[in-house]
Parts: sequence; structure tokens; C-alpha cells
Amino acid sequence: IKITNLEKIYRTEDVETVALNKLSLEVKEGEFVAIMGPSGCGKSTLLNILGLLDDPDSGSFLFDGIEVAGFGERKRADLRKRYIGFVFQSFNLIDELTVFENVELPLIYLGVGAAERKQRVEEVLDKMQIMHRRNHYPQQLSGGQQQRVAVARAVVNKPKLILADEPTGNLDSSNGNEVMELLTNLNEQGTTIIMVTHSEHDARYSHRIVRMLDGQTVLENLMV
Ligand code: ADP
Ligand code: ADP
Repeated sequence: IKITNLEKIYRTEDVETVALNKLSLEVKEGEFVAIMGPSGCGKSTLLNILGLLDDPDSGSFLFDGIEVAGFGERKRADLRKRYIGFVFQSFNLIDELTVFENVELPLIYLGVGAAERKQRVEEVLDKMQIMHRRNHYPQQLSGGQQQRVAVARAVVNKPKLILADEPTGNLDSSNGNEVMELLTNLNEQGTTIIMVTHSEHDARYSHRIVRMLDGQTVLENLMV
């Protein structure tokens, strides 16, 4: 990922908010990067653009060598489904669907056939050690279990990039560490990870911390 001079401005009736102010950032394939900064500095805005959920106003965004700034929703969605997995603080599972069905959803969107879906969902549920809960609904699971399902859903399409927004924010420290271990394992198998976090503890699982302030990156720390 190579981002140069990215700008995002939110306009409401009489107020303009510069959320990203000529931000530049490079993330190499296979890296695990933590993004930290105070509330309102633009982390969510950046994550939305990185996840191809939103488009910047100006600047360049090279994603796997493709200039995606200026792409319309349809082309962004196409890349997003194929290459990106999301993990959220609030899990964002669908309450009306079982564990199996939640994890199956990204594969349905990709048009994968039923037999292959079953095999891939079971494989990833097994890896996340949540197979015994495959027919349960999210509300029947503990927070740690729900986040393991959410990670399973994020990785079932074998994404190149995982974007995590405060993935341990609703978990106690032992479940939180378990989720960080899962992310670390995925990274060691080659998946690039970009994680927004308020936790210095979680950030230590990454290779590098990018610190943001007022819509810009201000500092980068290498982890040793
Ligand atoms: P963070 O995730 O670091 O808390 P955000 O990216 O959510 O920061 O917000 C950056 C700035 O943009 C803040 O000043 C916020 O109030 C503003 N902002 C975010 N989303 C919107 C929106 N949809 N409309 C107007 N302003 C917004
Ligand atoms: P936590 O320690 O995260 O608060 P809970 O006390 O919610 O966990 O859950 C403890 C165990 O009971 C978990 O294994 C969870 O899956 C199970 N459980 C909780 N609520 C239900 C339910 N409504 N139906 C079935 N199992 C449940």
C-alpha cells in the first residue's frame, strides 16, 4: 500500500472538517502495522479508505500496484470482496445467522459453490477453535467466541489484507490476547495487517506503530 498526500474533507451545511490532511503512508506486503492517535485524529477515516469503503477527495492510493483513488463504489467493492477482511471492535456479526452462516457470507458474495463453501468454512472454524459452536447464534456466544467467529469471517476468503479496528476493545485481557495471537499467526502466514488500537499492549504485537495527529502521521516507531 502506498498512500501519498491523501485528503479527506467532510462537508456539512456550514462546517468543513479536514479529517485527513495530506497524509502519506506506506505499508509493505506482509507487514503488521498498528495505527494509534487521539480520538478525532482521522483513524477511522483512514481505515475506511484503506478498506475501500470510502474514497478520498484527493491524493494517491496505490493498492497492490493499482491506483484506486477515484474508483467508484462498484470497482471498490470488487477489490474489497476479493482482497480485504475486516475485524471490528463490536464484532458486527449478523444476529439472525448462525456461526456457520456468518462465516459463509463472504464466500456467497464471491460466488463460491456450496460444497467448497462448506469445506472452507469448516476449515477456518476449526482453525479458530469454534467448530463446536457452528450452529449457535452470536448472542449465545461469549465475547471472545464472537470475536473468533468474526476473525474466521474476515479470513475465510483468504484476504491479502486484514483491517482491524480496535479488535480487542470489547474483550477482557485473556480473550484479547487470544485474538492478538490469532492475528499474529495470520500475519506470520503472510497476511498484511493494519490495526487501529488505543492499546499500547496490543500495538506491541505489530512490527511498527504509526502515530497520527490532526489527520497526519506524526511519528513511526519500529518495534524491536
Ligand atoms: P478517529 O477515528 O481518529 O476518532 P475519525 O476519522 O472518526 O477520527 O474523524 C476525523 C474527523 O472527521 C473528526 O473531526 C470527526 O469529527 C470528523 N468526521 C468523521 N466522520 C464524519 C462525518 N461523517 N461527517 C462529518 N465529520 C466527520
Ligand atoms: P463471558 O465470560 O464472555 O461473559 P459468558 O458468561 O457470556 O462469557 O458465557 C460463558 C459460556 O456460556 C460461553 O461458553 C458461552 O458460549 C456460553 N453461553 C452464554 N450464553 C449462552 C446462551 N444464551 N446459550 C448458549 N450458551 C451460552
